[in-house]
Amino acid sequence: MIRQIVQIGNPALREIASRVKESEITSNEIQSLIDDLIETMRDANGAGLAATQIAVPYRICVIEVNKNPRYPYKPDIPLTVLINPKVTFLTEERINVYEGCLSVPNLRGRVDRCPEVLIEGFDRVGKSLNFIAKGISAGTFQHELDHLDGLVFTDRMNDASSLTTIDEFAVNNEEEFKQQVISIVKNYGS
Ligand code: ZN
Repeated sequence: MIRQIVQIGNPALREIASRVKESEITSNEIQSLIDDLIETMRDANGAGLAATQIAVPYRICVIEVNKNPRYPYKPDIPLTVLINPKVTFLTEERINVYEGCLSVPNLRGRVDRCPEVLIEGFDRVGKSLNFIAKGISAGTFQHELDHLDGLVFTDRMNDASSLTTIDEFAVNNEEEFKQQVISIVKNYGS
């Protein structure tokens, strides 16, 4: 079922989501929540969606990038369901990249992200997951995990003057940012 995505200003986006009990991961409630997150993300052409964005305070998010029309420059990420995820930064380096969010309609802004992170958690059948995400994709994971702690990308902006509408981004920033993304992908492989 496609759910309504709440927008910035809605208190649900500021909730710190609760861990899902491991014994409940395979319950009908959690499984249908995961199905709804995937369906809602795909319907909205999102690169990811966290449960807090549909006002459900559980630590669950889904991520998928497959030639995304909202983010044509993003490297692909296969569908990933993350339950109780944890991120560990593996480098002091940071990349400064434009992000957008389904809960912050029509805006983009620059945020610093760690370009090499370890992601740990559980998948939708309760199996432990751990993998390294790099480059632009590492930023996508950090963005979704932030939602589970009540944070949106605008909270992470060091310089609010980079905030731009999508139309202005397309005119003023997209070409330069595409070049930056190409060099990040070259350096980090994703
Ligand atoms: Zn978001």
